[in-house]
Amino acid sequence: MKSTSHHFHINIPLLLGIAATGLFVLFQAAVAFCAEGRLFLKGDGVTVYFDDSVRHHGQSVLEAYPRIKAEVEEKIGWKLKSRPSIYLIGSEKEFRKMGGSSWTAAFALIGRSRIVVDLSSFDRYFELNHTLHHELTHVLLHDYIRAKMPDWLEEGVCEWVADSNAKGMDGIRGYLGTYALYANRLPLSRLQTFSGNNLSINVAYSESGAFMQFISGRHGDDGIRRILTRIRAGDDVDRAFLATVAKTPIAVEQEWKAELAHRVRWLITAREALVESVNRIFAIAGRLAADPRQAALYFGIFLLLAASLKAISRILRR
Ligand SMILES: [Zn+2]
Repeated sequence: MKSTSHHFHINIPLLLGIAATGLFVLFQAAVAFCAEGRLFLKGDGVTVYFDDSVRHHGQSVLEAYPRIKAEVEEKIGWKLKSRPSIYLIGSEKEFRKMGGSSWTAAFALIGRSRIVVDLSSFDRYFELNHTLHHELTHVLLHDYIRAKMPDWLEEGVCEWVADSNAKGMDGIRGYLGTYALYANRLPLSRLQTFSGNNLSINVAYSESGAFMQFISGRHGDDGIRRILTRIRAGDDVDRAFLATVAKTPIAVEQEWKAELAHRVRWLITAREALVESVNRIFAIAGRLAADPRQAALYFGIFLLLAASLKAISRILRR
């Protein structure tokens, strides 16, 4: 399953593992890229590498980069220190070779400031735009934060930044989206580390992003900036929340859950009414099955009603 909301970052311990396999291997890999003829463009603080098959994206990403960088920096309130390399890959096979997994469309290699995007799973530019905002946010956060943050927070912040530069859903789609969120929501405690084997990975990303939207709705974008600034200064997540929004993440989660339920209460009521009617039909059917004489009576009434309706419709048609 692939979609743009699939993102993943490999963190430092894994990177060290890769480094431990030897510089020789890395050097060979770099040479191989050249031999494969990957093209690249150098821009202001960024290098964009791309396959020939996606050549047109190389130029547009290079041109879009200063704007994307400025938008990410403004949203978080910090300046990017890294000079990232962005790899635009034209085939899934090649993407996997570079370390991508089947459930991601892009990932950021933190520590090497490398962003790798599988363009074979993209068809519209705005999705690429969303992905670049998301991945660049990972790079920016790790320019300042060394500690491992829970995924619901880090991925949530990346989605929050990316979503604020994308077209949101409103009207009935937005309403149904909120209902889906309400119905499929997982507790944050289960979103400490997103797992590729987890079929609800899409839920994990959209839920984490929506949770950040909720916090910024209550405390402003600055609320999220203050939380991140505390974490940057060394606070753990609970302490950062307490110091800025005066509640633990679990308490904020409870408020959010209540707000979601409130926003979709009509649909919840309708669903309950539907479940109730189906239960009643089954209860009647059960009673009838248990009492053949009553069943015969109901069946007789049903036939009589059907015959009357048919007669009435015939009269009306004349
Ligand atoms: Zn991510």
